[in-house]
Amino acid sequence: MLYHSTRGRSRPVDSAEAVLEGLAPDGGLYMPEELPEFDWKDCLTGSSMDMSAKILSALLPDIPNMPKLVRRAYTGKFETEDLTPTVPVGDFSVLELFRGPTSAFKDVALSMLPQLLTAAKKVKGMEKDILILTATSGDTGKAALEGFHDVPGIRICVFYPDGGVSQVQRSQMVTQEGNNVAVCAVRGNFDDAQTGVKNIFAACQDRELPFALSSANSINIGRLAPQIMYYFRAYRDLLDAGKIRLGDEVNFSVPTGNFGDILAGYLAKKLGLPVGKLICASNANNVLTDFIRTGIYDRRRPLLKTTSPSMDILVSSNLERLLYLLSEDTELVADLMKKLNTEGAYTVPAELIEKIQGEFWAAYCDDARAAEIMDRVYRELGYLCDPHTASGWAAAEDYVNQTGDKRPMVVLSTASPYKFPAAVLTAIGGDTSGSEFDQMARLSTVTGVPVPKNLASLQGKEERHTGVIDKDKMLDYVLSL
Ligand SMILES: *Cc1c(COP(=O)(O)O)cnc(C)c1O
Repeated sequence: MLYHSTRGRSRPVDSAEAVLEGLAPDGGLYMPEELPEFDWKDCLTGSSMDMSAKILSALLPDIPNMPKLVRRAYTGKFETEDLTPTVPVGDFSVLELFRGPTSAFKDVALSMLPQLLTAAKKVKGMEKDILILTATSGDTGKAALEGFHDVPGIRICVFYPDGGVSQVQRSQMVTQEGNNVAVCAVRGNFDDAQTGVKNIFAACQDRELPFALSSANSINIGRLAPQIMYYFRAYRDLLDAGKIRLGDEVNFSVPTGNFGDILAGYLAKKLGLPVGKLICASNANNVLTDFIRTGIYDRRRPLLKTTSPSMDILVSSNLERLLYLLSEDTELVADLMKKLNTEGAYTVPAELIEKIQGEFWAAYCDDARAAEIMDRVYRELGYLCDPHTASGWAAAEDYVNQTGDKRPMVVLSTASPYKFPAAVLTAIGGDTSGSEFDQMARLSTVTGVPVPKNLASLQGKEERHTGVIDKDKMLDYVLSL
C-alpha cells in the first residue's frame, strides 16, 4: 500500500516513509492510495490496545510488530485500562479522551507516534537523528514533549505562541525535563507559529543538516492514525452498555481545530465502523462552520482569543485530506491550497461541498454559550466539562434540535476541565482569584473531583525553557540546535 501526497506532485512512498517525512515534499499531506479491506467487526473485540494494533497494522503495513509497539506506547500511562472511557451524561455519551499523561486528548496519538517513528527509522535503516518540529496552540506541545523526551535517536523542538497558551499549559511545557528537548515561545499567534514551522520545512528541504526533520502535528499520518481507535472504543462501549445493536449508526460531535480528530472519525467510518453524522464543532473562530455550510473557506478574518484556545485556528491543515478523499482530485486540491495561501480563501465545487455535507454537519458556539453549557451540564447532570468539550456539546444540541436525528450521540471530550480552571470556575459561578494553580485547587474543592496528578505536581517545578523569539527567527533557532 502506497501513500500519495494530497497535491499529487511528490512521488508515492510506503507507510514507513510517510511517517518519517510527515509532510510530503510538494507541501501536501500523505494519504493511502486506497483504504485497506478491514474487518471492523473483529476490531470491536479485545482491548483498546488490541483495537489500536489492528487499525495501525492495516494503515501502516510497513511498520512491523504493531502489538508490541502499542503496548510500549500505552502501558501504565493512562488512568484507565480502556484508555478512553465513554460515560453517559444526560441524553448524550461523553468520550473522555483526556485520561492520558498530560490530560490532553493528544496523548492518545503522541504516546504512539514515537514508537511508530522509531520503528520506521529502523525499517528504513535511517541513521541520522530525527528532529521533531512542532507548533502548538497549547496541548500538542506538552503531549509531544511527554511522548518524545529521552527517546533515543529523536530530538524535539516545540514552538508556542507567546501569551497564547494558558498558565498551566505554559508551565507544562517550560518545565519539561529531558536531554533532547527544546521549547521556545514565538511572538505571534498559533497560525504564525504553524506557518513558521511549515516555512522551516520548506527552507530545509535541500539543505544538508545533521538531522532529518519530521512533525508531530496532525499533518503526520502517524499522528492521525492512532486516533481512529477511540471511535471504535466508544462504539464498543455503547454496544456493551446495550445502547446500540451491532450495525446501528452513531453520531459523533467533535471539538475541532486542525481537523485531525474529526478526520480520524471519518477514517473510522471508511474502515467500516457505522458512523452516522460527524459534527464539526468550533468556537467563535468559525471558519469551518462557514465552510461546511457554504463551501467557501475564508481565513481572512481576525483570529479571536477564546476560552477554548486549542481551537483558536483559522487554517485547518487536515481539511486538505478530506478534500482529497472526497474529490480524489490532486490538481483541484493543489489549486485550492494555493488559493488559500495567496488569496486567503477558496471555494470548492458545488458537487464537492454536497458530498462533504452528506458526511458532516457544523456549528459553533461563543464563550458565553460554552459557559452556559458548562454550568448547566454541571448543575443538571453532575458532569464537569472543559470549554472545548462544551463547544462539542453545543454543536450536538444544535444538531439534534435542528435535525431531529435520533441516532445516539457521542460528544468527544478533548481536555480535562482542570486545564482551563478559570473558564470553568467562571462558568459555574466560582471564585477565580489567584493563580491557575489556586483555581485548580478551588475547582477541586467545589466539585470534589481530584486534580489530575500530572497537573497538581507542576507547581514549583523549575522553569527550564524561558526563551521568546520573533517569528522570523524560528529558522535560525532550529539551525542553532
Ligand atoms: C487539539 C485540540 C483540539 C482540536 O483537535 P484537532 O485534531 O486539531 O481538530 C480540540 N480540543 C483540545 C482540547 C485540543 O487540545
